[in-house]
Amino acid sequence: MAGVKMREFRRASARALADDKLQSFLGRSMGTFDGAREEAIEELSRQRWDELRERGRAIKRHTLDNLDYYLDMLCDRVSQNGGHTHFAKDSDEARRIVGEIARARGAKLAIKSKSMVSEEMELNPFLESMGVEPVETDLGEYIIQLAGEAPFHIIAPAMHKSKEDVGELFEKKGIGLPNLKEIEAMADAARVALRGKLIAADMGITGANFMVAETGTVALVTNEGNGRFCTSVPRTLVSIAGMEKIVPCLEDLAVFMRLLPRAATGQRISSYVTHVSGPRRPGDEDGPEEFHLVIVDNGRSNLLEDPDLREALYCIRCGACLNACPVYRKVGGHAYGWVYPGPIGAVVSPALAGLDKGKELPYASSLCGACKDVCPIKINIPHMLLKLRSSVAEGAERGGTKASLGERLAVKGYGWLMSRPRALSMARRLGRWMQWPVARRGLIRRAPVPPFSRWTRSRDLPALAPRPFRDLWRRELAEEE
Ligand code: SF4
Repeated sequence: MAGVKMREFRRASARALADDKLQSFLGRSMGTFDGAREEAIEELSRQRWDELRERGRAIKRHTLDNLDYYLDMLCDRVSQNGGHTHFAKDSDEARRIVGEIARARGAKLAIKSKSMVSEEMELNPFLESMGVEPVETDLGEYIIQLAGEAPFHIIAPAMHKSKEDVGELFEKKGIGLPNLKEIEAMADAARVALRGKLIAADMGITGANFMVAETGTVALVTNEGNGRFCTSVPRTLVSIAGMEKIVPCLEDLAVFMRLLPRAATGQRISSYVTHVSGPRRPGDEDGPEEFHLVIVDNGRSNLLEDPDLREALYCIRCGACLNACPVYRKVGGHAYGWVYPGPIGAVVSPALAGLDKGKELPYASSLCGACKDVCPIKINIPHMLLKLRSSVAEGAERGGTKASLGERLAVKGYGWLMSRPRALSMARRLGRWMQWPVARRGLIRRAPVPPFSRWTRSRDLPALAPRPFRDLWRRELAEEE
């Protein structure tokens, strides 16, 4: 994981907050997914939804408690089906495995269906370096590949791009006719450009939403049908998955197939659910001649062993916590600096890439709990963020990073003040007096001194109230008596 590059959250989020176009986009669009999700849950009934969530959680818990057993079963079934499994301890090894398969088949063109783990292992630049052209076939992924960007959102990688942005990008890259204005025309242009690649590809590369141990099946959930092309047209198929994507049996898969689309996009079911259980068999009309499943650890074992962070491996990458998070809704996905954005990214990225690289991320949360409320697996993200914060503060083993002296002094001072009511009252009076030149109508819009000035760069600070809560409370009590 040493090679992982992450941008600093603080600087990137400051840039995002100052970007008026991004702010107006986030303000307009972030509620859309939420509304669809709520409708889909209401339609099912809240009680049924909660039962499914509990089942999903129980399946994840059981599978991770018996991970070796189910991984062995998966390997056996894949090889019985005529496929090959490979284990990769880290990104380097995973890239090497995929690279060797590509080299052995003389592949020049690889079509890809959306895969977060291939983003995590930076597969595309690696393939390019060995002369293989990787082409993303999910429309959103295709757009960000053309733009040379990272995904903005787990399930909608190009959601930050307006149709004008995409029109300009296509024109620059020579996709379709110049001056495309309508979304349908852009989608058509992408379809035409991709169709030729899909037919000519030597190799298909997919992620896996789930892997089913009892049947050796990889399940893919897509809305564009591109996953089906990638798995059925090229002669060689490689599916890459984090080892936590395993479920014991098809019955368990059915639970997640109800949870995932509802939580992600508010759909009852995705447009396409593709199951791959090995290479084509005699009599099959299509399908790859060769099937490889690459199962990636890349830091997941560390999460598995940590009782406080293990739940992060329950994640089914639906993106609901991103849509609900007040921080993500202001800074967007690129500020998080690595592949996984939002609340779950703030846990997974430092845990996988090293706390020294992502030590700001656990603080990118108000701990309001909205992420846990919407999570289809009820993952306790706030608890994990607190755990990571305490690791940062203590300079714990994971990365050996200490909180700065200033931060430690500030926390100590805060603790001292909060445990001394008289000192707190005096500090409040002093604060009221000092804020007088800058407070207007209960708000401070521009604080002159740090750390408050940093806060007011992108939002207002509530001024200290004329009467503190404890006085109002005391008066209420007195009136009641
Ligand atoms: S943590 Fe929960 S809500 Fe967030 S992406 Fe994962 S499954 Fe979805």
